[in-house]
Amino acid sequence: MIPAVLPTYARADLSFERGEGAYLFTGSGRKYLDFTSGVAVTALGHCHPHLIARLTEQAQKLWHCSNLFQVAGQQKVAGRLIDHSFADSVFFCNSGAEAVEGAIKVARKYHAETGHPERYRIIACTGSFHGRTLATLAAAGNEKYLRGFGPPAPGFDHVAFGNLNEMRAKVTTETAAILVEPVQGEGGLATAPEGYLRGLRAICDEFGLMLVYDEVQSGMGRTGKLFAHEWEGVPPDVLAAAKALGGGFPVGACLVTERAAVGMTPGSHGSTFGGNPLAMAVADAVLDVMLAPGFLAGVERAAALLRRRLEALVGKYPKVFAEVRGKGLLIGLKCVVPNTDMVERLRQNGLLVAGAGENVIRLLAPLIIDERHIDEATGIIDQVARQWHG
Ligand SMILES: *Cc1c(COP(=O)(O)O)cnc(C)c1O
Repeated sequence: MIPAVLPTYARADLSFERGEGAYLFTGSGRKYLDFTSGVAVTALGHCHPHLIARLTEQAQKLWHCSNLFQVAGQQKVAGRLIDHSFADSVFFCNSGAEAVEGAIKVARKYHAETGHPERYRIIACTGSFHGRTLATLAAAGNEKYLRGFGPPAPGFDHVAFGNLNEMRAKVTTETAAILVEPVQGEGGLATAPEGYLRGLRAICDEFGLMLVYDEVQSGMGRTGKLFAHEWEGVPPDVLAAAKALGGGFPVGACLVTERAAVGMTPGSHGSTFGGNPLAMAVADAVLDVMLAPGFLAGVERAAALLRRRLEALVGKYPKVFAEVRGKGLLIGLKCVVPNTDMVERLRQNGLLVAGAGENVIRLLAPLIIDERHIDEATGIIDQVARQWHG
């Protein structure tokens, strides 16, 4: 008999009753160190007091009123995102896929509006992940996820991630945009090589294309900057954000420059729940914490320490781990042993991590971790690897 909940996920046989900071607790009181953070969502840990305060305060005033009316929270959160990024304007939605869909629409509309409706194709990279809607699946081009769902949505071309020559060669008179993740999350933590984003920007400028970043996973402080592309200092025209933006409350955003948004006039796009007062109260609270002086520097420090510890484990257990991957706290280990087995063994020992492509485990720690959490996590990994190593 089919389960009551449609069985689309390969779930672990484990559930939690509550969370606190970097920890999750089962009903029977077993404690887990959570280095999944709900897949890079609960970036401030579970039940952060400031988020609870702002959410409950808003819950007593107004939950939802629709985009038929002004939503003050949207003005505030958009203003803060604009002040701290390349963007001039923000569209709010509810998820990462919806943010990427919005970004695709903005890029296509720009060309239609500026006299080139034939420019609608988007070049994306193999190994990427952009969500599970029909357009975002076609954008990523992952056969495994596309199979069985009919012809992929048209208008997407694919090249290898990190290869500027291939990217340049793929541009045609129908190309509208380039879409990349500065650090591939689900795909296995491949990081844009130095100069890659600059090269993409140059290609976009030469051919009049929109540069679109999917920072749904790499954004919101995960790499130690508000957005990962800031490391290379190369701004896009459009950016998709979500995951950690709401710290666990569903919210996404599509950030755009004024130039890119030329076609986004009233009626051109919408979302019933997008940017509702509850979501905006929480996103604003997340920004209170993330933009506070020293917060992102703390992420950078924790990431540097975790990386050093992981490098040491790779050196110590070469038959178990191949290398450290990723950037900032979007970090993980490429395994020699099967990553799914590693995820399970770590879980049995009280550490939750997420799998990724290319046999990688992702350590998506909350951004609030300190040395003690890092000691605890790497201690568990060491212990599990030692058993494996024999
Ligand atoms: C998770 C993710 C998405 C999809 O987000 P959803 O909220 O699941 O729709 C898109 N792009 C990237 C890079 C992601 O990591």
